[in-house]
Amino acid sequence: MSSLANKVQDVFNEPGCAKNQGKSDKERKKGCTKQLQPGGAAGGCAFDGAKIALQPITDVAHLVHGPIACEGNSWDNRGAKSSGSRLYRTSFTTDINETDVVFGGEKHLFKSIKEILDKYDPPAVFVYQTCVPAMIGDDIGAVCKAATEKFGKPVVPVISPGFVGPKNLGNKLAGEALLDHVIGTGEPEYTTPYDINIIGEYNLAGELWQVKPLLDELGIRILSCISGDAKYHEVASSHRAKAAMMVCSKAMINIARKMEERYDIPFFEGSFYGIGDMSDSLREIARLLIEKGADPELMDRTEAVIEREEARAWERIAPYKERLTGKKVLLITGGVKSWSVVAALQEAGMELVGTSVKKSTKEDKDKIKELMGQDAHMIEDMTPREMFKMLSDAQADIMLSGGRSQFIALKAKMPWLDINQERHHAFAGYEGMVDLVREIDKALSNPIWDQVRKPAPWDDGQESWEARALAEAEAEAAAIAADPVLAEEMRRSTQICNCKTVDTGTIEDAIKADHLTTVKEVTAATNAGGGCTGCHERIAGILSALAATKAEAREADHG
Ligand code: SF4
Repeated sequence: MSSLANKVQDVFNEPGCAKNQGKSDKERKKGCTKQLQPGGAAGGCAFDGAKIALQPITDVAHLVHGPIACEGNSWDNRGAKSSGSRLYRTSFTTDINETDVVFGGEKHLFKSIKEILDKYDPPAVFVYQTCVPAMIGDDIGAVCKAATEKFGKPVVPVISPGFVGPKNLGNKLAGEALLDHVIGTGEPEYTTPYDINIIGEYNLAGELWQVKPLLDELGIRILSCISGDAKYHEVASSHRAKAAMMVCSKAMINIARKMEERYDIPFFEGSFYGIGDMSDSLREIARLLIEKGADPELMDRTEAVIEREEARAWERIAPYKERLTGKKVLLITGGVKSWSVVAALQEAGMELVGTSVKKSTKEDKDKIKELMGQDAHMIEDMTPREMFKMLSDAQADIMLSGGRSQFIALKAKMPWLDINQERHHAFAGYEGMVDLVREIDKALSNPIWDQVRKPAPWDDGQESWEARALAEAEAEAAAIAADPVLAEEMRRSTQICNCKTVDTGTIEDAIKADHLTTVKEVTAATNAGGGCTGCHERIAGILSALAATKAEAREADHG
């Protein structure tokens, strides 16, 4: 097995990953060697994921070894604020061409590293592998090693070519690159019992800076944030921290867990979103530090800061809360944000009409249920048409999502706020919570909505295009409902497993024919669920629905 395949296998075997814990050895292996389906990396390839995770290290030169499109595709597609160096925003690529493909691109890469070191003198160069050089066999690990020896500066290979998998895998492979080549290679000038690492925070819009002043006040030092607003030396010496907080559950679990294993740095998973979660995170940081030898009085000071900051935040939120109470929010995000933002919005008095859970883990979903109750409206997959209908029927007053779905809200003439990676406002900590509420209030009370909802003068007296489109959609739905055969056909053709393109009908037929009772059996028989495993819950739903129908039929027979 190649070293890349080994590394991917290692990442998939990550014991800290909740998804993996639920898998058997055989399943884990299968999941790791699975072939990507076309479109599998549509939300970003593994290279993109690695670049996103590491680019916030600000003083490093990030060199992409590949065709120019890989770098063009990923450069600066999300913010990451820096308090110092701007080098991370300079785009470096080897821009390999046909000659490199024929003769190999290793020399070209070596020359590019030298040129960067000569011109910019960064503390390190990170070299990202992409699909083409990986396929022609360029050994970037060997080139980086030779460059490190020759130039005396760390040149770090980030081996995460796009074809190995999606963005999330790339995040983890980036973590592996740090673990293999960076973490533990430096020493901090001094250490204190109050040194922590924050892992998985990228400081996209300045979130770290909303939290740091409070930690500074408590005398807690962020030895390294991996990787928001980080400097190379900080990451290199991060192994001397006493405790760590992991901000985003999926992205860098391998770093947190392996640092605990290798350097005895305990960690917890927390969130900076929402007043309650922020307070809990501060408490947990203090608790872990005390456990590792900090003075127990730290907890008293932490509680005092929490009390003061909570009171201050509530006071600042109060004027908005009056206007926002009862406003309905549709939250289309994923992962840890699907629950941490729920808590934040509820604190502001708003009502959640739905939250997407497509990218959430089982733990994320359990937390949502805890916050929104067992009947929480968790949306696995919502089509743009359904989102549009929900908004235009005023089932929601505002949509919070990423930039890609903004146009649905705008077409429905409903307010929208960006809370994903392209956002321009930071919403972390107590300060961020006040900002979030202020931004929602601004979006909701913007006078533009009254203006755009008025019929255009040229439409006067006529039906608008939106009304016509909605009427057409409703007529289509009514026609389906009126024709039971067509309705059944449509129901059966609903795709359940997107990775393996398997529909409801195929799964139901297999369950009935082969008397299947578990998701595993369904996967073996139909391939459904053999990809990202995101549809396992839906398959389990089909299994229990069919089992219930069967039980009812049996009862009716006996009755
Ligand atoms: S690494 Fe591969 S999948 Fe990713 S952008 Fe480059 S060519 Fe495309």
